[in-house]
Amino acid sequence: MAFILIVEDEEAINELVKRNLQLVGHRCHSVFDGKTALSQMKHQSYDLMILDIMLPGIDGFEVIKQANEIPTIFLTAKNSLPDRVKGFSLGADDYLTKPFEMLELLARVEAVLRRTMKTANYFESGNVKIDFSSRQVFHSGQLVECTPKEYELLEVLVNNRNIALSRERLLELVWGYDFEGDTRTVDVHIQKLRKKLGWEERIKTVYKLGYRLEAGR
Ligand code: CA
Repeated sequence: MAFILIVEDEEAINELVKRNLQLVGHRCHSVFDGKTALSQMKHQSYDLMILDIMLPGIDGFEVIKQANEIPTIFLTAKNSLPDRVKGFSLGADDYLTKPFEMLELLARVEAVLRRTMKTANYFESGNVKIDFSSRQVFHSGQLVECTPKEYELLEVLVNNRNIALSRERLLELVWGYDFEGDTRTVDVHIQKLRKKLGWEERIKTVYKLGYRLEAGR
């Protein structure tokens, strides 16, 4: 898993982002202003930085300019096109505006890490291995045949491992808002994944809510 620097002056957001990234298994370091971020980078190497723009003292644009090529996701209230363009032209890997959804941030973090860390191209837990680049799933070295929806559901569970997800949310994320079916579709697919991967114990049913994938932290 990755070592992530969170540069965000709003303490509640900083804490929330940290807690969720830790839940999915990353190590995090929180700082609350640009100057501290820059001095931290001299002592530590990070795999990724989540960077606010409006910060006390040195702003996020200045931080990324002075940072030494750390993969960066901007997380900011500045949502104008010129700001986005500036963010990307300064080398950002992604740009997410507030208010944001935690699940979206987690998905984007995983996507950037997969591009930037060679080791993050697959997920391994027990005897199950998922290769994200080829979208292949292996159980004890044997290829598991998954339908596209089973694979997408699996990817959502893995990206949000250790976090409880409601059936409605899973339905929305995997099948889309305008899907006509109901949440039983989710249950059926979960049953299939449990059976195919031997994950009866790993994919927990969360009472009256949905499911949670338990994976190493
Ligand atoms: Ca701010």
